[in-house]
Amino acid sequence: MGVNKSASAEEIKKAFRKLAHEHHPDKNNGDDAKFKEANEAYQVLSDKNKRAQYDQFGSAFSGAGGAQGNPFGGGNPFGQGFGGFGGAQQADFDFDLGDIFGSFFGGQGGGRSSRSQRGSDLEVNLEISLKDSVFGVTHNISLQRKNQCQPCQGTGAKGGTSFDKCATCDGAGRVTTTILGQFQTQTTCPECRGKGKSIKEKCGACSGSGFTVEHQDVKVEIPGGIDTGQSIRLSGQGDSGANGAPAGDLYVNIVVRPQSDFERHGFDLLSEVKIPFTIAALGGEIKVNTIDGQVKLKIPAGTQSNKKFILRNKGVTKLKSRGRGDQIVIVQVDVPTKLSRKQKKLLEELSEELGND
Ligand SMILES: [Zn+2]
Ligand SMILES: [Zn+2]
Repeated sequence: MGVNKSASAEEIKKAFRKLAHEHHPDKNNGDDAKFKEANEAYQVLSDKNKRAQYDQFGSAFSGAGGAQGNPFGGGNPFGQGFGGFGGAQQADFDFDLGDIFGSFFGGQGGGRSSRSQRGSDLEVNLEISLKDSVFGVTHNISLQRKNQCQPCQGTGAKGGTSFDKCATCDGAGRVTTTILGQFQTQTTCPECRGKGKSIKEKCGACSGSGFTVEHQDVKVEIPGGIDTGQSIRLSGQGDSGANGAPAGDLYVNIVVRPQSDFERHGFDLLSEVKIPFTIAALGGEIKVNTIDGQVKLKIPAGTQSNKKFILRNKGVTKLKSRGRGDQIVIVQVDVPTKLSRKQKKLLEELSEELGND
């Protein structure tokens, strides 16, 4: 080991601090990879349990005591990997961890891939009619999905059993590397990714990938009230995960096909209707198209253009709520452009009557 086995906490602290400062990713010549290595070594050295294991078993040390073997492996590196820093260690190592780790993890996001990988999320766009968006509908979606290969149970090996011991790590799943000429550290074997075995004979069905791509029909229930830009998440309907990890999700992005006679405003539908000028003047009844079919609408005498009429509950189903919006009908008075001789005569009489001549 690069550091004397009986290295004091103070010595470790010093050595690590020097390395971390040299390679901190925020520095101009910082080195992410080296910083991580230094940190991992520090983890091992500073965690008394791990250190005891390491000293006792040498290269047989498995990361089982740590967070998934690799403090950077899981989605939440702080979860377990840093648990050890909580109480007892803090007294020995009193420098500001937040200073060094804070910015590093901030920029890192979800962490690197680990041994068990969740399947990928899939995304499809689905166009539906306005009517289906109002009332809801059930659709079948055809898609290509990665499924765990059945003949090899996702192992990629023929029959699920055709394995050799991994030559790189001799089956341990971990390899010892010397970092920066100072520390020896254990990392997940890059060859077998921690499995400790390599495929002797590839599965014929999946060529060793452990997955088969299959055509699949997925039923999706679209709730009434959905609108363009909204998505439905089907949990676990994405690609299968590796090594028994959960499947990804399927996102169905909804596009509502525009319909020229209706315009959606929230949960209301807007429509425009032309009425003859005689009905506008005298009053009467007209037929109006709604998403439910035709309905009758009473027009009072003396109705002007742009007057709005409200048809209650003829709008869009309220998503995550009850009931429906309204349909708002805007009327436009239609003045004829052609008149018969008789019509003209009648209108002239009317004009005279109104004193407009
Ligand atoms: Zn290996
Ligand atoms: Zn297979």
